Amino acid sequence: MIDLPVASPDSKSEKQNSQSIEKMRTDKSETTGLQAAEPMSQVKFPLRQSRRVHIGNVPVGGGAPISVQTMTKTKTSDVDATVKQILQAAEAGCDIVRVTVNDKEAAAAIGDIVKQSPIPVVADIHFNHVFALKALEGGVAKVRLNPGNIGSVDRIRQVLNLAKERKVPIRIGVNSGSLEKDILEKHGYPTAEALYESAMRHAGICEENNFHDVIISVKSTDVRLMIEAYRLIAQRTDYPLHLGVTEAGPTRVGTIKSSIGIGTLLAEGIGDTIRVSLTDDPVKEVEVGKEILRSLGLATRNVELIACPTCGRLEVDLFSITQQLEERLSGVKKPVKIAILGCVVNGPGEASEADIGVACGKGVGILYRKGEVIRRVKEEEIVDAVVEEVGKYQPEN
Ligand code: SF4
Repeated sequence: MIDLPVASPDSKSEKQNSQSIEKMRTDKSETTGLQAAEPMSQVKFPLRQSRRVHIGNVPVGGGAPISVQTMTKTKTSDVDATVKQILQAAEAGCDIVRVTVNDKEAAAAIGDIVKQSPIPVVADIHFNHVFALKALEGGVAKVRLNPGNIGSVDRIRQVLNLAKERKVPIRIGVNSGSLEKDILEKHGYPTAEALYESAMRHAGICEENNFHDVIISVKSTDVRLMIEAYRLIAQRTDYPLHLGVTEAGPTRVGTIKSSIGIGTLLAEGIGDTIRVSLTDDPVKEVEVGKEILRSLGLATRNVELIACPTCGRLEVDLFSITQQLEERLSGVKKPVKIAILGCVVNGPGEASEADIGVACGKGVGILYRKGEVIRRVKEEEIVDAVVEEVGKYQPEN
């Protein structure tokens, strides 16, 4: 059974709620070694202490910024198409990209792909140790592989030794849909304990071979199950965790499921790198992943664009303004919070709390920088004015 916390039915006020949340966090830190960290948001999150590994030049775990991953959806043997998708994902802000190495042609192509990729490439391998060795020789920055699935001790050693020699971590990826038969029989059906046991079996093989650069994922299409499984691993180990809801589905459903699953864990301080799985383009997966981080104040180099939902008081074309801003600021890599509000009722207060804000009136916008009014601009100049301010903005850290 999946044991998620239930809200207290007799909580009487927001104050009481926040006190009890604070207490839960304090209690948790006593039992799990979680510590308070301070992300960009003013709200303090607990942060699980995990060991640090490096995927190429991207640090993962040990307090490193949470990285966003995606996976290419091309045939890996089609180098041009695969590299094109990687470049698009990188442009959208992807930190790490995974590529399947599922046949001889893919194994032959991986070296070329690595050479042309601006971000670290991870080889996704099932069962075949030769493909793993080829991918490592081709320069991949991480291998996703479950050592217990590649056969003899000798094969396992060959892969782990080469990975160690090349300082390449291994991600053990356990999935509720493909648990080992004996574990499934023992637990009856995929449970959090079953996912944990499977992950530890593979991790144990690595540790026995003196290989410690391990990252773990315990994914499921069942959001509650994956949350519980990740919590178990977080409480019992210090492995860095790759979060994801597997086969999350088409964009709308997949975005919601991933946001709940990944978001819940991140809000508890659990998770070091994330991948949103969507039946959609890798760029969409990256955008959703980045948005999850932004929502929790965990994005370190992204624009956070806040806009009011609009209502009958709206006095400018806010839809067009936010759409234009989203497009024009999509490549900006600095942590800046922008708020665009549609009228004078809530506008000034909210706009002044952002790094850059605009409170709109009839055909005009009042521009704020760090709570101070800078100037008044015409509606048609709002987008240019905000983009100009973002250009000048210097983040504090
Ligand atoms: S800021 Fe103004 S226009 Fe926007 S939702 Fe609030 S009241 Fe409506």
